[in-house]
Amino acid sequence: MAISRRDVLALSGLAVASSALNASTHTASQKKSDNKESATDYKAPLPDTKNPRVVVVGGGWSGLSIAKHTKLFAPSADVVLVEQRHEFISCPVSNLWLVDKVKLEYLTHDYLQAARKNNYTYFHATAIDLDKENQILKTSNGNIKYDYLVFAPGIDYDYSRWTKDIAFENRLRQEYPAGFIPGSEHMTIKNKILNFKGGNFILTVPAGNYRCLPAPYERACIIADYFKQKKLNAKVLLLDANNSITIKEKGFQSAFSELYADYIEYIPNAAITKIDLDKKVVYTEFEEYPFEDAAFYPQVRGAKILERVGLAKDAKNKLEADINPLTYEAIGAKNIFITGDSRPMGFSKSGNTSNTEGKFVASLIAQKINKTKKVEWLSPVTTCFSAISIEPEKAIYIYTQYSYDAADKTFNFYNTISGEDWKKDGINDAKSLYGWANALYADMFY
Ligand SMILES: Cc1cc2nc3c(=O)[nH]c(=O)nc-3n(C[C@H](O)[C@H](O)[C@H](O)COP(=O)(O)OP(=O)(O)OC[C@H]3O[C@@H](n4cnc5c(N)ncnc54)[C@H](O)[C@@H]3O)c2cc1C
Repeated sequence: MAISRRDVLALSGLAVASSALNASTHTASQKKSDNKESATDYKAPLPDTKNPRVVVVGGGWSGLSIAKHTKLFAPSADVVLVEQRHEFISCPVSNLWLVDKVKLEYLTHDYLQAARKNNYTYFHATAIDLDKENQILKTSNGNIKYDYLVFAPGIDYDYSRWTKDIAFENRLRQEYPAGFIPGSEHMTIKNKILNFKGGNFILTVPAGNYRCLPAPYERACIIADYFKQKKLNAKVLLLDANNSITIKEKGFQSAFSELYADYIEYIPNAAITKIDLDKKVVYTEFEEYPFEDAAFYPQVRGAKILERVGLAKDAKNKLEADINPLTYEAIGAKNIFITGDSRPMGFSKSGNTSNTEGKFVASLIAQKINKTKKVEWLSPVTTCFSAISIEPEKAIYIYTQYSYDAADKTFNFYNTISGEDWKKDGINDAKSLYGWANALYADMFY
């Protein structure tokens, strides 16, 4: 039996002294492999269990839902949520925080509270590797043997359409973060907005199925309203790589033209060809746009950890999760599921989609643990409210499910309802925006 690092630490002082003495006679390569072993190959400090262990990587909207509902649907499961963050910060509603409409406390939630309330374990660590054959997840805080494993790690940015120069990409990430992965990026953008003195503030909308289709348009409205309230001589330039507004078009288009004619310039078909950060100019095929400040949102892809652990496929050179789209099971790997925004299906990448999908995936895992009858595919639900003004607060929304076309293996919008008449319903829909957020936070944490 292999001796783990923890076992070694538990040995007597004599043994430790003797291994230290031996270490001095090791060759350089032996030292290297010893270091590797001590850095990662030890058992995670979690109690052993005889029950089926379900490990969920990623405590976002998807992972939180799966951890909670797996425990609910299969109470015998020992559920461990592996999350690299110390606390949860919500992306939904964060655009309102950028202009101080809500407090950071409203967006921030406690992983320990969620775990205690829902009878699972929150394990603070980063998943770094996978031994599929032996069903072991390797993390920055030790190895975890699993019976079922879920990857719900969200997205990473893909700057490759804009640049292949790592130093330049790094400048974009550091100086002009996108603000679509929560935490410091949002704080940087908030400071940019609150300190803005005037001129052009550039936002971008990427091509492809990017995270939260309406959020860049919502952000443009909110920043524009803030500039308007402050009577700044300022404009939000919204450069959209798509040929039109990608969702809730009527609602956003009318808000742009009727509320923010002097504060938003919406530019469709504006795929960026070059960004000059020193001259502060953005170039598209047809135009160039000088700017005072910006937040550049590049294309997105499934989180890179999937590629590292061999669970991604090369779909048209864009690596994405390799799964059965109806069962979320990883292709060629046993008892592994991939969910949330890193899924390859064309569902809207939203918190509500991830939350409802999480319940379905939990029922699939529970069915295997409980050995009950097969669970039929269930559509996720996308419900998404977007603020279009802050003074007074008004919002629009969309609700949709998805249908599956077995013949051409595609998903389509189904049962879609949109509420985009902000003049009539905007104030009520703004109240519903908070009602929705309160309900989802309660579902995940309380
Ligand atoms: C500005 C903005 C506004 C939005 N507004 C809305 C809205 O109004 N309504 C709506 O429904 N959706 C909205 N969304 C979208 C929503 O936030 C995402 O769709 C949702 O977060 C996706 O959930 P997820 O669990 O897939 O990913 P995430 O929520 O990103 O969670 C992934 C988690 O995995 C963790 N992780 C990643 N890699 C590892 C690893 N190797 N080890 C351990 N942990 C790891 C991350 O730390 C993270 O906590 C908005 C998003 C943004 C950015």
